Amino acid sequence: MNKTFDISKLVRPNVAALIPYTSARDEFKDFKKEMVFLDANENPFPSRVNRYPDPRQRDVKQLLREQRGLSENQMLLGNGSDEVLDLILRAFCRPGIDNMITLPPTYGMYGVLGATNDIENRKVLLTEDFCIDTDAVLRTADANTKVVFICSPNNPTGNLIPKEDILILLRQFAGLVVIDEAYIDFAETESWVNTLSEYPNLIVTQTLSKAYGMAGIRLGLCFASEEIISILNKIKPPYNINQLTQLEALERLENPEAIQKEKEEVLKERNILENTLKDLSYVKKVFPSDANFILARVDNAAERYQSLLKMGIVVRNRSAQPLCEETLRFTVGTPEENSKLIQALKKMS
Ligand SMILES: *Cc1c(COP(=O)(O)O)cnc(C)c1O
Repeated sequence: MNKTFDISKLVRPNVAALIPYTSARDEFKDFKKEMVFLDANENPFPSRVNRYPDPRQRDVKQLLREQRGLSENQMLLGNGSDEVLDLILRAFCRPGIDNMITLPPTYGMYGVLGATNDIENRKVLLTEDFCIDTDAVLRTADANTKVVFICSPNNPTGNLIPKEDILILLRQFAGLVVIDEAYIDFAETESWVNTLSEYPNLIVTQTLSKAYGMAGIRLGLCFASEEIISILNKIKPPYNINQLTQLEALERLENPEAIQKEKEEVLKERNILENTLKDLSYVKKVFPSDANFILARVDNAAERYQSLLKMGIVVRNRSAQPLCEETLRFTVGTPEENSKLIQALKKMS
């Protein structure tokens, strides 16, 4: 990245100019239990949820900071990482003017969020082996290209995107490089979070929805420079992370051993599933996975999908995605679920 990178040139002018809403809880921060709080029109009778939640989620961030060594000013929490991705588009892309680049086959939400925000989605296909055609990305970008979305490990293909590809974009692409690490906990590699100080145009998103086992509470994480985070903070809904979510996240994050144990079990099951798939005659290709799912090419994806459904097993048919013709995506379940799947798969052959 050249040293002249200037985030103020990327941010939407209306966002740069706006004065954020200040909530009651923002204005008075020194929350002490014994004080009398008559500032937010809440119901005064105590329960777990009668008060507005902390708009800055300091307890959760404190724990994340201890576990990841980043300052609170380098992180933002979202109502799922989908909210974070939406905030990024709204902060930096002018509707009808700016554009973004996505790299299909990849996570469908980038395109949906782009369409919702009236941001042109310039698609640059991944290569046959699901790496980035970096020359094509750089050729496709123009002065109004604000963001490129990289998903690594990629959904639905399951592979990590090579470091070299990402480095080229971090160094040569003039806009923001968003790396969606929803599945990073399953991969044997370091997070790009550790390189934040080197790349001022880097944004890393993660989530508690996958390895952390908390899809139901909706908590997404965003890591970036203090400058980027402060821009996103300006436009985020003040109370976007509800009280119950913050409490549940704290409880879970305080027990990393449990998360680790479940992750190891999933990885063991992934291995078993991968070996099974490779032995089936109707499976044409099993794509190597760095995530908690496996993409496989079969003889007839629609038919195999229906047969599994009849046996009570729901998988995902990803055949409509480019480069994914006749593929099914299998999420790795518990050992019991996985053996049911394996039984069903063997029955079909
Ligand atoms: C599941 C998934 C997410 C998670 O989104 P949340 O809103 O945090 O649940 C993000 N990105 C990708 C690629 C995913 O597959």
